[in-house]
Amino acid sequence: MRIKKHPILEFDREKKLRFYINGKELYGYEGETISAALFANGVTTFSRSLKYNHPRGFFCGIGKCSSCLMTVNGIPNTRTCITPLKDGVEVKTQDAYADLPETKHKRHKKKVINTDLLVIGGGPAGLSAALEAAKHGVNVLLVDENPILGGQLIKQTHKFFGSREEKAGTRGVEIAQQLRKEVEKQENIRVFLKSTVFGYYECEQNHCFGMVKRREDYTEEIYELHCKSVIFACGAMENMLAFPGNDLPGVYGAGGVQTLMNVYGVKPGRRVLMVGSGNVGLIVSYQLLQADVDVAYIVEGLPKIGGYHVHAAKVRRCGVPILTSHTIVEAYGNERVEGARIAKVGKNWSIIPGTEMDVKCDTICLAVGLTPSIRLLSQTGAEIRFIREAGGHVALHNKNMETTVPGVYVAGDGSGIEEASTAMLEGKIAGFSAAYKIKNKAFDSKPLKLYHEELERLRDGPFGVKGRKAKEKIAVQWSDKR
Ligand SMILES: Cc1cc2nc3c(=O)[nH]c(=O)nc-3n(C[C@H](O)[C@H](O)[C@H](O)COP(=O)(O)OP(=O)(O)OC[C@H]3O[C@@H](n4cnc5c(N)ncnc54)[C@H](O)[C@@H]3O)c2cc1C
Repeated sequence: MRIKKHPILEFDREKKLRFYINGKELYGYEGETISAALFANGVTTFSRSLKYNHPRGFFCGIGKCSSCLMTVNGIPNTRTCITPLKDGVEVKTQDAYADLPETKHKRHKKKVINTDLLVIGGGPAGLSAALEAAKHGVNVLLVDENPILGGQLIKQTHKFFGSREEKAGTRGVEIAQQLRKEVEKQENIRVFLKSTVFGYYECEQNHCFGMVKRREDYTEEIYELHCKSVIFACGAMENMLAFPGNDLPGVYGAGGVQTLMNVYGVKPGRRVLMVGSGNVGLIVSYQLLQADVDVAYIVEGLPKIGGYHVHAAKVRRCGVPILTSHTIVEAYGNERVEGARIAKVGKNWSIIPGTEMDVKCDTICLAVGLTPSIRLLSQTGAEIRFIREAGGHVALHNKNMETTVPGVYVAGDGSGIEEASTAMLEGKIAGFSAAYKIKNKAFDSKPLKLYHEELERLRDGPFGVKGRKAKEKIAVQWSDKR
């Protein structure tokens, strides 16, 4: 299942590693996650459901769901989609509620870190926020739970839309590289990868968090983080759809599929049904074709295509039919997806009888939107509201990205689903504002004004409508509170 030839990417497969799945010896490569190595070997069942013993597999590929949990070197519930493969590691499938390990793992002493600013999430928003704050002399601790900095950018091989100032026309993977290099140059940014910030605690003057860092031997270290201000740049989670068979291995989020293909060079399957024709569905369909994976159909419930015309034209030219007013009815298969039934929908998404069609495929890719990740942020007590245009529940925030809790900021998809270009600008605004507050002195506010103007320009275009509406609603609710 490894991609041998790719028009844009090259995959580093220098060092071969041996590992075991339920005692059976397999091989992977250094730099891969356990999930990617399993897929490359054709293993797609990662666990079994408790009651019916149904097979369960991978879904999001970025550590945000529980689909990929496995027992690794005796440690249960390990998120194999963000855990790097090591030589000799023993991986076991587990039922949904694995027992806690009997053996006592070495406990590492809790460590305490004090910093001016904590940035949670190293995607475009978090990287931009950290750089902006560091530029103003603030000490920054940047934490990301994935093994690579860059968030969603690390898998985006297409040239970006948006504004030239925010790197439009450059491939997402290259933007991530540029930002990573800039961060490396900054002496006052300390980076923690493979580290999850898991809890917010009240403490006297500072904001206080718990963080767990995964070590090379898969054991974990606990840290207590104290900071004057914090920026939540935690991104978003992929949406699921309710249909019979949606728990079968082979039903994956579009971002998860992108991670497998474009970060690790592994194909998710051989023939895909794509659900959703927004930009994500269209772009990932094209990237599947680039990876030599067949795309059977793209189905879209609405009467028209959601994404940019240019992306739709590209996949159509490659012979992929886009069926609007169609949805998935069911996925079927034993150990993994073997096919799906799709049908035409009428008003109110009701299935039109007699229009059902069978699609032979081994993968169903869901590109049906994202939900802002706010679970950790909501622990701070920041006021949360449901804003439909923002993609779900978000924290109320002012123009400078500060929430209702002083010193707690939000930026990027976590503050409302938009794009990487707006995420970078929001990150800069949050970074600037946090630095201003921490330093307690007046900066030249010209850059902040420019970031605001650029953000307005981006949201002014026809594709910025949803983001603009979301932010307008947030602004109204914010001022109602004052
Ligand atoms: C297929 C596809 C195509 C796209 N194309 C474009 C495009 O052409 N142009 C464009 O502008 N945008 C595009 N986007 C959108 C863009 O990628 C996102 O809007 C952007 O990445 C959001 O940035 P972010 O920093 O808010 O979140 P993310 O990039 O998701 O980063 C969030 C980071 O936070 C980390 N994290 C979360 N919680 C924790 C925690 N508790 N502890 C530690 N770390 C944590 C995650 O590991 C992740 O790395 C596309 C998206 C997709 C899926």
